[in-house]
Amino acid sequence: MPQALAPGSTIGILGGGQLGRMTALAAANLGYRCHVLTPERDSPAAQVAAAATVADYRDEAALDRFAASCQVVTFEFENVPFEAAARLASRVPVRPRPEILRVTQDRVAEKSFVNGCGIATTQWAAVRGPGEIAAAVQRIGLPAVLKTARMGYDGKGQIGLKARSAVDGDALWTALWGNAPRDAGSREAPVAILEAYVNFACEVSVIVARGLDGRMQAFPPAENVHRDHILWTSTVPARVSPLVLAQAERAARTIAERLDLVGLIAVEMFVGHDGRVLVNELAPRPHNSGHWTMDACRTSQFEQLVRAICGLPLGSVERHSDVVMTNLIGAEVDTWRAVLAEPDAKLHVYGKAEARPGRKMGHVNRLVPRESYAKSKLGDVDPAM
Ligand code: AMP
Repeated sequence: MPQALAPGSTIGILGGGQLGRMTALAAANLGYRCHVLTPERDSPAAQVAAAATVADYRDEAALDRFAASCQVVTFEFENVPFEAAARLASRVPVRPRPEILRVTQDRVAEKSFVNGCGIATTQWAAVRGPGEIAAAVQRIGLPAVLKTARMGYDGKGQIGLKARSAVDGDALWTALWGNAPRDAGSREAPVAILEAYVNFACEVSVIVARGLDGRMQAFPPAENVHRDHILWTSTVPARVSPLVLAQAERAARTIAERLDLVGLIAVEMFVGHDGRVLVNELAPRPHNSGHWTMDACRTSQFEQLVRAICGLPLGSVERHSDVVMTNLIGAEVDTWRAVLAEPDAKLHVYGKAEARPGRKMGHVNRLVPRESYAKSKLGDVDPAM
């Protein structure tokens, strides 16, 4: 086993959102301290971390002080500038390694990488300006989805093109960037990607952890339903065939290995009506579709991340309950009282002050203990006791 960081060490987390919060809580359970760096004041992660720095990701002096205070650094937000992660990596181990951000921050690089692993995606074409849209539509066909190559999330920076719609390159280009999140400080020319629309049977995701020693553990695939482009529910077990489950897990493991990942990666996939699995997106960090692991698995995705980046043995991914994770979006978080009254529900609230529409405020895991698991465990106990 490579050198492990002992409890008491400090883990640096880039990003202050709920993923950082839940990572810091898991790290604290194992005896680690977390230092969060984020531009946001009173962030969800800083509220539960041992230390926090409020600074821009491009503030080099703040990055250097942060690096000096940590024994390892990870990120909970994959759009941190590559240069910031690379600067930190020259001073302290950054896991996953920053070069992985170069792949996953850019849909063109990401799809090229996935296809290069021999793994299918939907048909796609890079679009480097409004003049290239018509040719891309010719190649890919309609319906299709036009997406910004960088910074998109939760449907931001995406436009659907219906079948037989007229294609006005200039108008689409203007509309796309009008709907895109800001890529502050990026000096790169705007690039988009046109993807063939996938008429999928369902969406699944697999989260794989890979340790410093190269060993991997894949959580069982979750079946994901989106509402208004935002993840709504993740259900486990996913209602797909064993063949689809195996394909999904194999794709995720291959990707983790080919990236030489240390940490976690979430691989989101479409499952076709013919059972074909197409990779949609990668996220080299804990993922919303893995929140179910917090209450239904022996090890949560957050603990698994801490184990992986600290060089500890990975934990068991055994699932002891069936589960439906439901996000609480915007004002839905106001249902917390009713959720707490449900005996099989576990509530998680992220500490965000303002419940804006579309904002992820918390989630609920509704559990159904697995009969077979309960019986096998009860079988070990003397009923006379
Ligand atoms: P993304 O930002 O690429 O993860 O997309 C968010 C969600 O939009 C996906 O999880 C799908 O539900 C939907 N979506 C994205 N791309 C496509 C596509 N090419 N075909 C069909 N649905 C898509």
